Amino acid sequence: MAGSFHRVLCADCENEQVVFGKASSVVSCAVCGTTLATPTGGEAELHGDVVETVEAR
Ligand SMILES: [Zn+2]
Repeated sequence: MAGSFHRVLCADCENEQVVFGKASSVVSCAVCGTTLATPTGGEAELHGDVVETVEAR
């Protein structure tokens, strides 16, 4: 089952972090700890600006 990856820009510190589109746990910014994504059971809800989306094959 393929998913996609999103490069998310942290709103607080502008760190770019790669988040799996179907993340099953909360993803926090590695720099400041702000929540970048929360799981919904399907596509994770993203909380920063998505810089780029990469489809996995
Ligand atoms: Zn941050």
